[in-house]
Amino acid sequence: TVGCVAVDINGHTAAATSTGGLVNKMVGRIGDTPIIGAGTYANEFCAVSATGKGEEIIRNLCAKEVASLMEYKYLTLKESLDTVIWKKLGEGNGGLIAVSSNGEVAMSFNTLGMYRASGNEEGHRQIGIWQDVCFDDE
Ligand code: ASP
Repeated sequence: TVGCVAVDINGHTAAATSTGGLVNKMVGRIGDTPIIGAGTYANEFCAVSATGKGEEIIRNLCAKEVASLMEYKYLTLKESLDTVIWKKLGEGNGGLIAVSSNGEVAMSFNTLGMYRASGNEEGHRQIGIWQDVCFDDE
């Protein structure tokens, strides 16, 4: 995966996600990445991008769920991410990066690892970007 989440100085968020899909995927399979609300989502609360086992990410509508926990349960960005990763997405299935409209950067994953980087750009408060998760069966 290559995912990116960003917020500007006015609190406008954006998320984008790209992937080659899973190794040995079925012909014609569509993963979570292009499905808004599953692998990618942004609204007035946060922007979220997902990596990992797409079928599980779709079933749990992970990216939108993070935004909904902030909106309806008043959780922080980090609490929302951890809730989705540890209480909904099965262990070893994936990771999320996110930025809130306030400029908080957070991430959570329950795979062995998740490559990522984040930075500040003048005029674009925070950016997070990552490449891939490591599954324990690889
Ligand atoms: N989430 C992607 C998929 O299931 C795989 C990945 O790039 O993490 O297609």
